[in-house]
Amino acid sequence: MPSTPDGATRAGAAHASGASGASDVSGVSGVAGASDVSHASGAAIPDGGHAVDWAALQAAAAEVRDRAYAPYSHFPVGAAGLVDDGRVVVGCNVENASYGVALCAECGMVSSLHATGGGRLTAVSCVGDDGKPLMPCGRCRQLLWENGGPTCLLLTPEGVLPMSALLPQAFGPEQLDSAAERADAP
Ligand SMILES: [Zn+2]
Repeated sequence: MPSTPDGATRAGAAHASGASGASDVSGVSGVAGASDVSHASGAAIPDGGHAVDWAALQAAAAEVRDRAYAPYSHFPVGAAGLVDDGRVVVGCNVENASYGVALCAECGMVSSLHATGGGRLTAVSCVGDDGKPLMPCGRCRQLLWENGGPTCLLLTPEGVLPMSALLPQAFGPEQLDSAAERADAP
């Protein structure tokens, strides 16, 4: 049901963008929003051209976190990403009795990204049970890199940072492209 998470998130984001959402963010993380974006990246508007409402994004992540399936770790996580066309996509972690096959929240978010029309992630917020910014695991940083690239912004405990700072010298599609070019060379 690809339309449901997106629709729910739009509603959640709209709800959270009011005064209470903004105060929640400053109270939870100390991150004020747009000013931190400009501080971290030199631009308040990421690649997609849409200003980042970090309060709404964080609220959307917290909302979907409450739908996480985490009966084993009791560590629910929500992730919300702003797409370059202005959509917000979300995901929650989904655990399994066979622990190793658990899905991180970012996995669901990236699946939702493609299921609802694709595009590029420009800003992402992940939150844990306390609603504070949570860092993606190593595997999920690779997922964010593939779908957002080096300029995708992430709300971290240390403020807004680009993926280039969170996955330095990353392996990505361009490595495969250069390998293919070498193979094609005479
Ligand atoms: Zn992960």
